[in-house]
Amino acid sequence: MKPRYLRWLLASLLAPGCSTHPELPEGVLLIPEQEPKPGYEYALPGPLRTAEPFKTAGPFKSYFDAVQYACPVLMSLPDATMTPRTSISRRGNHLDVRTWDDSTEYCAWIYQTPQGQFELSWIGTNERQDTTKGRRKCDMPRRVIDARYAKDPSLPPDKDITYVLAVHSHPTANTLTDHDIGYILALGHKLKGSFHSVGQFKLGIIAFFSNGTSGSPRCDGFFQYDIPLDETDESTTRKIQKWTVDTAGHWEMKEVATVHHKYRENSMPYIQIIEFP
Ligand SMILES: [Zn+2]
Repeated sequence: MKPRYLRWLLASLLAPGCSTHPELPEGVLLIPEQEPKPGYEYALPGPLRTAEPFKTAGPFKSYFDAVQYACPVLMSLPDATMTPRTSISRRGNHLDVRTWDDSTEYCAWIYQTPQGQFELSWIGTNERQDTTKGRRKCDMPRRVIDARYAKDPSLPPDKDITYVLAVHSHPTANTLTDHDIGYILALGHKLKGSFHSVGQFKLGIIAFFSNGTSGSPRCDGFFQYDIPLDETDESTTRKIQKWTVDTAGHWEMKEVATVHHKYRENSMPYIQIIEFP
């Protein structure tokens, strides 16, 4: 029998040519609607700087350097920023009408290499967004495969990298949702008993936002929530941080919400977010 991890399906094997997003640059991959075949798993390749036009970025000395790089990259992808109202802009001779249905979320991993450097993975985006309920999503693959550290086919290809931050874009400046936090909690549980928790110091989720419109994409900040990997204490209260950056590049942080989570056997944790007034 072949080892299971040899059958992981790289998202990069999907053909972007047949997509509804012909304008996506190399390094941005579509996450298909259908579940992978049994025994397969979608994964993002890394690092992003193996793809044009991202060649010069990374590795980064700190995770914050990687975050500062990732934010404007994700926010400048097509339709990453959207106001809930319809916007009309002029592109040459033609009027471009964008509605909420066009808004798109993008997601990626910031991970640490065995050398202690930080890298941004390639970026994923759902093949289709939900236009019936208007919910935005990015079904982030849970694994990164960095070919430099996936040399031994008898071992899991991501055993030598450490997952640090799941990052994604929000089309408006909204805080993290219970779905976002549920994702990272479930993943933390999964990582706990695996190779990946060796040397793990934190695991968190970030949602980037822009106060601009679809015509002027930029990074204005992000919401961040960190969990320690040994999180088991139900009484623990944790805070969502909001980081903002001004035009001079100065970052500021304030706490905007508390989060409570309760674990139940065999189910997603119950999450309660209480925003500060
Ligand atoms: Zn989100």
